[in-house]
Amino acid sequence: MSATEAFQRRWDATMMRNYGTPPVALVGGSGCRVTDADGREYLDLIAGIAVSSLGHAHPAVVDAVSKQVATIAHTSNLFINPPALQLAERLAELMGVDGVRVFLSNDGATANEAAIKTALRARPGRRRFVAAENSFHGRTLGALALTGKAAIREPFGPFGIDVAFVPYGDAAALVAAVDGDTAAVFLEPTLGEAGVIPPPAGYLTAARAACDTVGALLVVDEVQGGIGRTGAWFAHQHEAVVPDIVTVAKGLGGGLPVGACLATGEAAVALQKGDHGSTFGGNPVSCAAALAVIDVIESEGLLKQVDELGEEWMGALGACSGGVLKGVRGRGLWIGLDVPGAGPAIETAARRQGFLVNATGPDAIRIAPPLILAADDAESFSAALPSILDAASSAMEA
Ligand SMILES: *Cc1c(COP(=O)(O)O)cnc(C)c1O
Repeated sequence: MSATEAFQRRWDATMMRNYGTPPVALVGGSGCRVTDADGREYLDLIAGIAVSSLGHAHPAVVDAVSKQVATIAHTSNLFINPPALQLAERLAELMGVDGVRVFLSNDGATANEAAIKTALRARPGRRRFVAAENSFHGRTLGALALTGKAAIREPFGPFGIDVAFVPYGDAAALVAAVDGDTAAVFLEPTLGEAGVIPPPAGYLTAARAACDTVGALLVVDEVQGGIGRTGAWFAHQHEAVVPDIVTVAKGLGGGLPVGACLATGEAAVALQKGDHGSTFGGNPVSCAAALAVIDVIESEGLLKQVDELGEEWMGALGACSGGVLKGVRGRGLWIGLDVPGAGPAIETAARRQGFLVNATGPDAIRIAPPLILAADDAESFSAALPSILDAASSAMEA
């Protein structure tokens, strides 16, 4: 039995069945490469779902985390911890508007829970929300209520908030759904879990206008798209739109768990003392990692690099279109391959050829590598893609 199979048996015996049994056990990583339990190496083009933004074992993250854990690892929110304060200040600056206030969470779902409570406080008496079909906002009950995939939401309802779902990218449908009872509209800047599907240009601007007409808040869930993934600090910054609330998490901590709910204007002051909290939220070790991530993105000019490499790479990947690959979409290093019915077969074929990518479902492959990805690593995947697609097609015929 291989080391991977031994891990899989133990996993099957003890872990709850919510994840199924993963095909690989990862035991190490360096830069954009990871190693499995049997010593196989992979180019990591999924980065723990858009999380490991500086790759694995980046010296800046290792150093920041090591120093912080040896200094003070936890304070709780009964006390100020300076890394949390500094991270909040940095995030507020990156938003580029005045009056931003920050709640630090542990992850994406809890950043969105904070956003939901903020909206309910800012719009007392309104309990209605609007969100998109096929959206994903997290697995906790509030965030799940907003998640537009019936298969993962419906078994757990009903929920305490009323949510209307509209087709993503359809501005007219959004305008029609938003009314005087709407506390907030929750939108991803691009659908991530649905397979990296960007909206038509101007969608967030139209959403902003629809919210302003009735006094609803616009919440942009940048848990996956924020912190450099699209070549901007926040994906909404590609449009001249200022959301009331922005949530971030995945890429923020470079692999350590931390999220944030950033609010502007009246939403920034909607939560009062005692309204919300988290024991671990904003813990100093995760915040030190996040500060290192932001510093490296800035000092190494990664926003520009992500923007340019993404554009070039999407061109190269698109040139492999034909057969099961119908098209390529996305922005920066957040790329979706349109592969109707072939997603899982391509994920497996890519892994056998040494590349980790992710089938978000039957019809799409998501690519979300570390932001430090080098051009020649990107090229190695473009070069392998035709043979990966062939292998996937043969496996599907067999
Ligand atoms: C992953 C994700 C979440 C949930 O984040 P968790 O850290 O898994 O709770 C929420 N919103 C979006 C857009 C995501 O991609």
